[in-house]
Amino acid sequence: MTDVADGIGLEDTRALEERYLMRTYKRAPVDFVRGEGPLLWDADGKRYLDFLTGISVCSVGHCHPEVVKAVRDQAHRLMHVSNLFYTEPMAQLAQRLSESSLGGRVFFSNSGTEAIECAIKVARKHAHQRGIAEPEIVSFEGDFHGRSYGALSATPGLAKNEALGPMLSGFRSVPHNDAAALREAVGENTAAVLIEPIQGEAGVYVTSEEALKAARDACDEVGALLILDEIQTGVGRTGSLWAYEQTPVRPDVLTSAKALGGGVPIGACVTAPSCADVLEPGDHGSTFAGGPVATAAALAVLDVVDDPVLLRHVRELGAYLCEKLNGLEGVRETRGRGLMVGVGLEEGIDAAAIAADLLERGLVVNVPRPDTLRLLPPLVIDSDHVDHAVGLIGEALLGFSAG
Ligand SMILES: *Cc1c(COP(=O)(O)O)cnc(C)c1O
Repeated sequence: MTDVADGIGLEDTRALEERYLMRTYKRAPVDFVRGEGPLLWDADGKRYLDFLTGISVCSVGHCHPEVVKAVRDQAHRLMHVSNLFYTEPMAQLAQRLSESSLGGRVFFSNSGTEAIECAIKVARKHAHQRGIAEPEIVSFEGDFHGRSYGALSATPGLAKNEALGPMLSGFRSVPHNDAAALREAVGENTAAVLIEPIQGEAGVYVTSEEALKAARDACDEVGALLILDEIQTGVGRTGSLWAYEQTPVRPDVLTSAKALGGGVPIGACVTAPSCADVLEPGDHGSTFAGGPVATAAALAVLDVVDDPVLLRHVRELGAYLCEKLNGLEGVRETRGRGLMVGVGLEEGIDAAAIAADLLERGLVVNVPRPDTLRLLPPLVIDSDHVDHAVGLIGEALLGFSAG
């Protein structure tokens, strides 16, 4: 395709935003108008290699032909009837998610945050059934679980914003990977331990096997649920369909969203059989959730991602990416698993300045903390894309140290 200018342009778009949108986001100065596979084009026709994929959403690449076809076909046939009726793609996707993970039941949502809300409800009601009047949920500092009040209360770094308070009661946190503190925090009132297998928003910090095992054991001792938030790590990102598959633990509940719809909003809360029947009619619901278009898109995404050949490719390419990054001047360490990579930069290098420079050079990344670049490329890229991206990162880092 040709690189032609498209849309109303960055300046007009910015002017509209300035006047009409709440100021909740700090955006990079680019107006994307088109995407295809690992590539994006802005309104001036400039081309970018996307190593962020809308925060691990377009994992199968932008506008994947099979996802586009599924959305288009379903949109022509039926878009919405509500959860008062049966629809086929929802039931099929539930089967697919359950059988590929914990084997229990699924609740669909429209976002990751809402998948967490469902998990919190399951945990609290499960605790209620065990006679707990004041249920507690334990998370790690640095965890991110979303921004509605339940999810926010479980997100220690954001829950301390007093201007948004009061938060829900019954949430506590311990330092990330502190297995002893976690064991200490879990007691007779614990409804659940809710944690990320790899902390994404915090800057890509892997939760240790020791901490995961401590969480599993502590939950088992008191009868609490282990909830793994796989909203960022799931759907193939780490080189297995779910990140927990590469760990020694299996959760009771997992949450998914982000990549699940390939760009169409959808989330899911999946249970093991032991807590599949906790929620009953009247306990929870959503008008849009599990609708035919979103679930048809997710089925198409899983057709691509739930493939041992692709998942091995993700593990191998992730290792190759980290090896090349570790050879660059200015890189202190790489963290993560598969194609979820945090690049820790040497002291004194401002990751935000590097990311802005990379955007100029045509590479999209993001900066979850001041010393870290986060890379979440499409899972379908090849080693040439990796070489190109690492080449640009190397140039940007050299430019920085040259002053
Ligand atoms: C993005 C994210 C969420 C929130 O998902 P939304 O779709 O933005 O509501 C929750 N948990 C984790 C681990 C995430 O990465």
